[in-house]
This record gives sequence, structure tokens and C-alpha cells, in this order.
Amino acid sequence: MSSRARVILLNAALGPLDYRVPHGMAVQPGSIVVAPLGPRQIVGVVWEEDAFPDVETVGDNRLRNIVGLVDAPPVPETVRRLIEWTADYYLAPIAAVLRMTLASMSALEGARTVIEYRATGDLPDRMTDQREQAMERVGERQGLIRELALIGGVSDAVIRGLVKAGAFEAVEVSIDTPYPVPDPDHAPPVLSNKQAAAAAQFVRAVQARDFAPFLLDGVTGSGKTEVYFEAIAAAIRQRRQTLVLLPEIALTEPFLERFEKRFGTAPISWHSGLRQSERRRAWRAIASGEASVVVGARSALFLPYPNLGLIVVDEAHEASFKQEDGVHYHARDVAVMRGLIEKFPVILASATPAIETRHQVELGRYQEIKLPSRFGGAEMPGIESVNLLTDPPERGRWIAPPLVKAIDETMEKGEQSLLFLNRRGYAPLTLCRHCGYRFQCPNCTAWMVEHRLTKRLACHHCGHVIPSPRFCPDCKEEDSLVACGPGVERIADEVKALWPQARIAIVTSDTLWSPAKVAEFVKSVEAGAIDIIVGTQLVTKGYHFPNLTLVGVIDADLGLEGGDLRASERTFQQIVQVAGRAGRGQKPGRVFIQTRMPEAEVIQALMAGDSERFYKVETENRRRANAPPFGRFAAIIVSSEDADEAAQVARMISKSAPQIDGMRVYGPAPAPLSVLRGRHRHRLLIHATRAMDVQAAIREWLGKLSWKSGTRVAVDVDPYSF
Ligand code: ADP
Ligand code: ZN
Repeated sequence: MSSRARVILLNAALGPLDYRVPHGMAVQPGSIVVAPLGPRQIVGVVWEEDAFPDVETVGDNRLRNIVGLVDAPPVPETVRRLIEWTADYYLAPIAAVLRMTLASMSALEGARTVIEYRATGDLPDRMTDQREQAMERVGERQGLIRELALIGGVSDAVIRGLVKAGAFEAVEVSIDTPYPVPDPDHAPPVLSNKQAAAAAQFVRAVQARDFAPFLLDGVTGSGKTEVYFEAIAAAIRQRRQTLVLLPEIALTEPFLERFEKRFGTAPISWHSGLRQSERRRAWRAIASGEASVVVGARSALFLPYPNLGLIVVDEAHEASFKQEDGVHYHARDVAVMRGLIEKFPVILASATPAIETRHQVELGRYQEIKLPSRFGGAEMPGIESVNLLTDPPERGRWIAPPLVKAIDETMEKGEQSLLFLNRRGYAPLTLCRHCGYRFQCPNCTAWMVEHRLTKRLACHHCGHVIPSPRFCPDCKEEDSLVACGPGVERIADEVKALWPQARIAIVTSDTLWSPAKVAEFVKSVEAGAIDIIVGTQLVTKGYHFPNLTLVGVIDADLGLEGGDLRASERTFQQIVQVAGRAGRGQKPGRVFIQTRMPEAEVIQALMAGDSERFYKVETENRRRANAPPFGRFAAIIVSSEDADEAAQVARMISKSAPQIDGMRVYGPAPAPLSVLRGRHRHRLLIHATRAMDVQAAIREWLGKLSWKSGTRVAVDVDPYSF
């Protein structure tokens, strides 16, 4: 008698396959195994034997043997249920979801040790300010080069230099070495009454060990982090694991620092910068339940924590929680589902919650906890609009007179200003004055954006770059190229021209590309070495600069262009967030919004400081259009390198659309970026009522069709924007 096992291999193209379990091998559902597939050996996970009843069964004699059992904790049942739910809901191959869980297992061979570094006690022969700072801040800590660089506020190169100079030494750490455990009693804050009441609710929910979704709706600077830290402390005391999801890796660094101050040690961070061995160490600690607190981007959500007691999704309204390729999932929504399956509270924290989230509160499904005022009594900043039609900037400039005056006043008081424009680079379009030629990306339907700091034109969609041209490639005319429209670099030039004495920082992903750069930026603003910050959405969140009292929004209408479903909501959120950087200390803040539409509902609501009003109007608009959260959308995106093939498959899919009550199919039409990375894209949009099972309909519909292997058909359920 032989026993069989149904295995899902980490190969997206395949469904589950059955294998024979050799004698003496102890395999159970969840076991991570290695199994043959053709000539290859592939990692997979054993599922319940009766899962996926549609799998074609093969006679015992034709089964191949499982060849190995991986030395790792099995994938818990709850996680397997989460994987199934995600694959089902988002119409994704189950193997693709499973790959996110086994993030580090695809490479089984490899080092069993991680190299960390620590001070030797010796001084380097040559001391520099940077070296001194790094050595002082790192002290006796031990960690990866990147971590030490972060703690030291220097670049990786400085730490490497210290290693070469003998001041730091390498230490080999087994990937099974435990991480230090955060101490819930290390440095608890004194909470305000409102904060304490909020924290007490979270603590009770963690202790209750039951599903409880919360919206922590607190204005910027209200202390949301301090409050959810108390929930984390409660989970640590219960010896349960906590996951904190952040929207961006750039926000991780200030978070780690704050966490360490509160809990005495940094949490485990999970991000794309980890090397294979580091990733495996973190993964093992997570899977064994030993990792107490993990902070990461959305990909940390599918890891196999056996013992989660809390998930916090910070800045929960952020679009980056929605994954737009591979498995098209929304981490905020999957986090709530994980809480439901595994029975623990989930806290969605935001100063500007998504309409969908507020709607869940209205329906009584999520409990709302409000922190309506800033900690320490700081006032919310006053918001004024600047009408660009009646009060325009000078020709070729973008800062209008009222904002110029406000910056003057702020400079005179020795306070700091922040100018916000959500556009990287110098100019979004370059054209030839002589013949009208425009620089377009060869791979995408997009203009090449000029980056003057790096002297290049770049496509922001595929990364294609060319050196800044000196003459027109079409008419060969020299000195005929002009930059059209502003990016942050151009605004910074304008600031330099207007305030030659000002010390300026440009904040974009181009300038703050490493933790050390972020630390350097934060330090110089805190030290008062910066007068004016010019930045993209990267500056809108997280930072706390008490001397920053003026925020100017260069173009509030930018987000409203295109007019997609979320245009107003996104604009509202972005401006509230950036406005939230003003006046966080003792001094009151002011915000100026430049717009051509001062009467627009969004702008009016912002000026009135009335988010309730904005929420009501926007919700009503959505209700009338039967848009989310009332109706639902799904998109089918067909892409191919062959333009005709993409168009033809899209038409074929559209022609076979089922006629179902409550579901309408629009398109196909060229997708918003009709060519992306060399692939031609067509899109069908499906609008459905909540009552119908749109996933089932799409599954059945596409299940009957086929197309050439070079063509990709992706489904995006609940697309973020379209
Ligand atoms: P939010 O995340 O809501 O914008 P933060 O948690 O970042 O707010 O808090 C804003 C600032 O106020 C931070 O510098 C934080 O350290 C401080 N703060 C908030 N609550 C407290 C408290 N109870 N005790 C001391 N400082 C606090
Ligand atoms: Zn491109």
C-alpha cells in the first residue's frame, strides 16, 4: 500500500498534482516537499487529499515519488485557507499566491549563515565625521551592513569602509539564530485621555483573540502610531505575532527607529532589499512563530505566520497596497480576511480613510476609533486656495504671488516651507520648437520625462532612459528643444531664482533612494539646515518637522485630470496628507492650494477642513453611479507584443461575454497605457452589482476560451484605478 499526496507546485502554469509518498517519509497537509516535474525538481506544498475535486486522478502505478521533505515548518491550515480564498477571489493561479507564502523557499540550496557586522573596539587609522557618527550611533549593536548604515545615518559604503579599516568585523550568524524579542515594557509613553481610551479598546480586542476589524481614523499628528503600539505590546505579552504593513519601504526606516525607542529592539523587517540568506532567516523565524513583530510592505502579508494576533495596516488608504501585476490583490482587504480566518483584530490606520473603508464603518462591519485632534494641542493648519486664473504666476513660472508672499513671510520668521508637486523630474514633456517633435518612449504610450539632475530623459513606466538630447532627432535643429510643464526639479529652480539665499532640499525617489539619504534629509531639516523642501508624494507622509509651518500645493488640479473613479478621493487624500506636515509643533501652520477650479467640491471641502462633507458628497456620487463600494468593477486586460493579436483576442473575449442580469461588459478599448513595456494592451471593463458572483461569471466565461501562449489575459478584480 502506498499513500498519496496532492501537491501544489510553485509553478503557476499547473494545478495540483498527485504524488506517491515514499515509505518512511512523514508527510501531512502543509508539508513543504520537493517533487519531480518532467526532468526538474520543484518545491511544492501538500494540500488536503480531497482538495480540488476536479483534479484528474491517476492510477497508483503511474504516480511519481515525492523526492524530499524540506526542513521547514509546514504551512498552517489557516494560511492554506487564506491562499485558497485569495486565488478564488482574485482569479489568480493558486501556485502564484503560494509563491508569496514560500517567498524564500524557491532557492533551497544556499548559505545557512548570514554575515552580520559589529564593532571591534579598534579605531580606524583615518577618522572622518561620517565614520565617527556611524561608530557612535551603532555602538555595540550587531547587524547587516544596511541596518548599521541605517542606524548610523550613513551610506552602506561608510560601513564597508569601517570594516576594511578594522573598526567593524564580520560575524557569521546561523540562519536559525533567534532575533531579540521586543520588550512591551521598555519605554511606554504617557498617553492622552483620548489616546488611552483608544489604546484600551485595541488591547481588549487583542486579548479577546477574536476577529475585530477597526478603522483608526485620526488626524495627522494625533498619535495613531503611539496608540497602535499599545495593541502591539498586548500581542507581545500574549506571545502572539504582529504584522505591521506600511505602504512604502521609504517609511520603514523612521518606523524602525520609533519602534526601537518604544520596545528596545527593532522589529524584523521584510522587504525586497533582503539577500537570499537574510530572507531565509527572516522567513524561518516567521514560520516557526519565533518572530514577534514583523514590519513590511504588502508582500509580508502572505508569509506563513502560525500565530498571528494582530495586523496593523498603516496609511491604509494608500494605493500601493493594491498590487497591480502578478496576483492583483489588495493587501488591505486580504489583511482583514486573514483576521477573519485566523481570529484576531485588524487595525486600519489613516487620516484619510478610503471611501470603501468608511462605508464598512457605516454598515457597522468595522468599528471606528477616532482621534480628532493633534497630540500636544497643535492646531490643524488653515487652508486657503489660490486661484491660478485670477492670480496667475509670472510667465514661465508656477508659484503664484500669494504663495510667493507666504514663502517670504515664512523665510523671514526663520521657519520652513514645503512645496508639493506630484511629478518627478524637471519637465513631463520635451518638444522641438522648430518642427513640433515630441520625445516619446519607444516601449510605452508615454512621454519621456526630463531629469535635469541626472541629465537624462526617462520613461516613468518602463524605465527606458536616454541621455538628454542636444538637438532634435527629427529636424536636426540645435537649441530648439523646450521643456513643457513643471516637475519638482523645475520648481526647485524657480525657488532658487526667487530666493537665492534659501537652502533647498528636493525630495523624490530620485534623490532619496536609500535609507541613508532619507536619514540625511531628516537630520538636515530637523537641524534647521533647510529652508524650503520641494517634493513629490514622498514628502506627504510620515515626517514630523515642528518648524515646518507653510505648505504650498503647486497644482491641486493635477490629480483631477483624467477624471477616473478615484480622482477626487485621491486629490483630497493627498492634499490632506501634505497639509498635515504643516504646523505640527508649537507654531501654527498655513496651507496654500493653487488651483484653476476653486469652486470644485474637493477644494471647497479642503478649505472648510470638513472631511465629513467631502465623504458624504463623494459617497453620494458613487451611489448614483453604482460605483464601488456600491457596485463593483473588474477589468480583463489582454496584452501581447503583437498589436493585432492583442486586439483580436480582446474582441474574441468580448464576443463571448455571457448575458447575465446585473453584469455589463464594456469594451474592448485600448487600456489607459495602450502600449506598456512593448506590449499592446486592450481592456474590457465589467460593471456588476454586489448581488451577483462576478468572479464565478468571469471564471466560467474565460475558462471556455483559449489564445496563443504569447498573449496574456489578466483579471483585475476591484481595480484601483481605470
Ligand atoms: P500620526 O501617525 O497620527 O500622524 P504620530 O503617531 O506620528 O501621529 O504622532 C505625532 C507626533 O506626536 C509624534 O512625534 C509622536 O511621537 C508624538 N506623540 C503622539 N502621542 C504622544 C504621546 N502620548 N506622548 C509623547 N509623544 C506623542
Ligand atoms: Zn516606457
